Amino acid sequence: MTEHFLTYSDPDRIADGVKALAELTEPDRPFTRLVFSPEFQQARQWLQERFEEAGLECQIDAGGNLIGTRKAPATSANAGKIIIGSHIDTVPAGGRFDGIAGVLAGLEAVHFLNQRQIDLPFDLEIVDFLGEELNVWGASCLGSRQMAGLLTEDVLDRVDQDGRRLADEIEKVGGAGTPASGPRPDAQSILACLELHIEQSDRLETDQIDIGIVTDIPGISRYAITVRGSAGHSGTTRMEGRRDALVTASDIIMTARDIARDIASQDNRHFVATIGRIEVYPNGAATVPGEVKMILDLRASNEHSRDIFMGRLHATSADIGQRESCDIEIERISAASVAYMDDPLRERLTRAADHLGLGHINLSSGAGHDMAHMSRIAPAAMIFIPCKGGLSHCPEEFTTPDAIARGSAVLIRTLLDLAC
Ligand SMILES: [Zn+2]
Repeated sequence: MTEHFLTYSDPDRIADGVKALAELTEPDRPFTRLVFSPEFQQARQWLQERFEEAGLECQIDAGGNLIGTRKAPATSANAGKIIIGSHIDTVPAGGRFDGIAGVLAGLEAVHFLNQRQIDLPFDLEIVDFLGEELNVWGASCLGSRQMAGLLTEDVLDRVDQDGRRLADEIEKVGGAGTPASGPRPDAQSILACLELHIEQSDRLETDQIDIGIVTDIPGISRYAITVRGSAGHSGTTRMEGRRDALVTASDIIMTARDIARDIASQDNRHFVATIGRIEVYPNGAATVPGEVKMILDLRASNEHSRDIFMGRLHATSADIGQRESCDIEIERISAASVAYMDDPLRERLTRAADHLGLGHINLSSGAGHDMAHMSRIAPAAMIFIPCKGGLSHCPEEFTTPDAIARGSAVLIRTLLDLAC
């Protein structure tokens, strides 16, 4: 027999939470709540009050994460911890649901347990992970990286255009501002990390499916591509024999797109390649471009596909370079391995969705999330809920309180299952 999701969570309370946080925005740029901003601090304050109302013990850890803990009864000491979390910071002119939905869903679990007076045999931590979105220091997932022991000194030392050092900002919100010497000391006792998030794509909405059970968070690799030709006067350099770096770069951009399409059509796991940043030198209207620098961003659920892609891109670029008489250099800047979600946890989430009579599919995440880092130190899993038109990181981002409540019910059922 299936149970209704409304048995577990309250869409009205979720709607109130979404509304309250939406109001804490830069007034003339909704919905903007950049990490460390006054709006962010106000939202943290608001959230801490909600945590405390629900009886959670609040603390800010070394990574600047806000953690609300519902303790296990003393009789079940050392029985471990379960984390449910997401983030309340936004990108500039972002949405009302990215991250927020996951934090409110965690809070719903606490309300459910309180109402039913259920004691879990483990500590439950509801976490607002600090600064998940990419910030002006060029870093993302600050809080989860620190928890996983992956936040390094060179990142913390970065200074923004206004002279603000990242480490100092983390200190101001209550964190340590020092590099992690390793994963959080009690990492061994974390039984599960769970996150609910809007899908940020349109698969669930299109197929009218309630819940996406995330299989993996693709590894992101970035490459710097430099094309060197010869700059020259646009009026006097004859077309024959030009070494136009931008024409050559445009050929590489098209090639990257074509190879990526080909690989994505053969491998049904997530694979996307984007060249979204380009600098042209000297960038004059009357000058043949002499040099181009661009960044290739690759996200693959399958590392073998990434290697095949790069192999083909190197070979084709060499041909293009020869034909256009330009030198092409491709250099890897960063690479992260695929973060696989925990199989037993995924099975529990699937069972929970079945129990609630909710439709579900497995899918890969296109975007990065805090669970990618948490999965390096503990079993981690994520569920996605549908969002309108797949739109995200924009004010039009939308999902319904019911959709969040359905996802929240899945998390709560999973908690109860883990307690058995
Ligand atoms: Zn997010």
